Amino acid sequence: MKYLIAGNWKMNTRKDEAVRLAWHVAQHAGRAPHVDVMIAPPYVWLSPVSDVIRDTPLQLGAQNVHWEEKGAFTGEIAAPMLKDLGCRYVIVGHSERRQYFGETNTRIHDKLVAVYQQAMIPILCVGETLDEREAGATLDVVGTQIREALTDVPVKGELVVAYEPVWAIGTGRAANPELAQEVHTYIRKVVKEIVPPEIKVRILYGGSVKPDNIAGFIAMPDIEGALVGGASLKADAFNAIVDAAEAASS
Ligand code: PEP
Repeated sequence: MKYLIAGNWKMNTRKDEAVRLAWHVAQHAGRAPHVDVMIAPPYVWLSPVSDVIRDTPLQLGAQNVHWEEKGAFTGEIAAPMLKDLGCRYVIVGHSERRQYFGETNTRIHDKLVAVYQQAMIPILCVGETLDEREAGATLDVVGTQIREALTDVPVKGELVVAYEPVWAIGTGRAANPELAQEVHTYIRKVVKEIVPPEIKVRILYGGSVKPDNIAGFIAMPDIEGALVGGASLKADAFNAIVDAAEAASS
């Protein structure tokens, strides 16, 4: 299984910065042939970033998508539009979308359907809050998020799930790898109950991943890459994470 290192730029970068960052990451991705590398810039930079990474191994992703194919949804972006811009991956159900935009498992389910209809690959984000972890509810929460989002989705080809404990995102407080591994094992079990066996499933860890902690995560048997926020905004840091995954692959 190839590791996937995915960068989520969130609502950051001006246009020049986005193009420059993408260029540096794209040049470097060629030096990591055993790793899939993806970046998800803000919607408005997908087109210029797509131009600059064309003919490189760096893959493009979107941070979100609407569940309908088109229509009267002012300000929203549909899956066929992302497909036209060359997106291969779409992040779905990020905890910031759940927390600040009221995204529910039902809507996330509809978004997964929309992504597969365009033959793209969703990165389904799940994870517990600190209160939920302290109450011992982590596996219940994550299991429910996956079951409600994924059941009856016509999954084709590949599914990526990112386990992102909410308390570890953007806080500098990463989970420890053993703790993440335990949740990943459970996620794999739940996903296997839902998707057909021929589907390629990769489970990423996300939450304060940095060059100095990535090796510990990908050394775990059920961690197949990382979804990286803050550290994906600096080419040197993101490229160092890619290097660590390449070193662990060869
Ligand atoms: C994220 O938002 O998906 C994320 C993991 O952020 P950070 O790496 O900054 O914690």
